[in-house]
Amino acid sequence: MSLRAVKGMKDILPDEISKWHRLEDAFRARAALYGFREARFPIVEPTALFVRSIGENTDIVEKEMYTFTDRGDKSLTLRPEGTASSVRAYIQHNVQALEPVTKWFYVGPMYRRERPAKGRYRQFYQAGIEVFGDPGPYVDAEVIDMVVGFISSLGITQVEVLINSIGGPETRANYRDALLGYLEPYRSELCSDCQRRMDANPLRVLDCKVPRCSEIAADAPSILSHLVDADRAHFDTLQKTLTLLGTPYRVEGSLVRGLDYYTRTLFEVLGKGEGLGAQNALLGGGRYDQMVKSLGGPDTPAIGFAMGLERLLMAMPSEPDPTHVDVFIVAAQASVRSEAALLGRELRDAGLRVESDLRGGSLKSQLRRADKMSARIAMILGESEVENGVVQLKDLEQKTQDEVSRAEAAKRAKAILG
Ligand code: ATP
Ligand code: MG
Repeated sequence: MSLRAVKGMKDILPDEISKWHRLEDAFRARAALYGFREARFPIVEPTALFVRSIGENTDIVEKEMYTFTDRGDKSLTLRPEGTASSVRAYIQHNVQALEPVTKWFYVGPMYRRERPAKGRYRQFYQAGIEVFGDPGPYVDAEVIDMVVGFISSLGITQVEVLINSIGGPETRANYRDALLGYLEPYRSELCSDCQRRMDANPLRVLDCKVPRCSEIAADAPSILSHLVDADRAHFDTLQKTLTLLGTPYRVEGSLVRGLDYYTRTLFEVLGKGEGLGAQNALLGGGRYDQMVKSLGGPDTPAIGFAMGLERLLMAMPSEPDPTHVDVFIVAAQASVRSEAALLGRELRDAGLRVESDLRGGSLKSQLRRADKMSARIAMILGESEVENGVVQLKDLEQKTQDEVSRAEAAKRAKAILG
């Protein structure tokens, strides 16, 4: 037997699922507090969607996409992130005609063919939000405040919130010239990727992880000193609002992030606690005011973020797993197994989580299973109990037992469970 999951892709088995549910439920609840509504998009999209939105000269498009031909001749790609699909759907369904501001959230798997490491997988889950139709900067502050509050509500306290502005097209054009002027003398020292980036999108040199490239990038002129007035005012107001909200942040002028489509506000939250290792970016986000238009939609400003759920789970303090059984039914004799099935139905109809061993077995082995499943209560049913319309109710935690009428059994169990 050597069939195994694809490298970098993991099974999530039931023992782990409760913390996933805890995280996803908390995210859904938080998103609802802010007026976001869930949308679900296909996992597969036309390849051109990602090439055009994420950008040709990005790591994702250059080397991380799972792209295949759909028997015929269509090039399809497993989605590497959620924003491109959100924008495609926003345009396709003409959503701007329905409401001036649209607030969506999503949760789901993403695919990137990266080198697997702790906190870096080839299938991983993201939860994210997108706001369409609001140019900010107040909504930028609200979105950052929302996600910082969310992370802290998960018990993740050691974080650093980085923000930056990379301005709009005018700022970018000014900065591009300044940056190229700075980089030119170092051209031959940069990695071959960065040499190409210099021609295609020099900003991306600042995001390179090759040590010599980051050294050179460290002394590059800051984009913050090139912001045109409107971009500067946007960024100042964002900071003022964050300060008023009490949201901690640090301005990091070198934060550019990997995707081409960002404008103005960028942010990232890093986990500083143990357990994360080198992959400590919990989430990344930013404004992408040009993207809807560039994909053929109306001119629509937008902002969003995406969080890596595996990384959040690693950073979250662990909690004892909740039990999944309230009552375990024990059939004292083989002759009452049908009746035990009926008792199970009665209790489940009353909303209790019930397990039993319908294969039978000795009283002792059945009680052992009840213990193993951390059931709080065992209900023992034998021939005389069936005859008298009662069950023996054992509180496995208090180690008490009494006889209760069958009609009262569910009520008594609920009283014990609290
Ligand atoms: P990194 O710098 O870690 O590669 P990124 O800039 O590629 O991150 P984004 O595209 O902004 O990440 O995705 C947002 C979040 O999704 C990241 O902050 C991270 O938490 C998570 N993420 C991204 N790639 C992976 C991956 N391969 N495995 C697990 N989580 C990931
Ligand atoms: Mg990456």
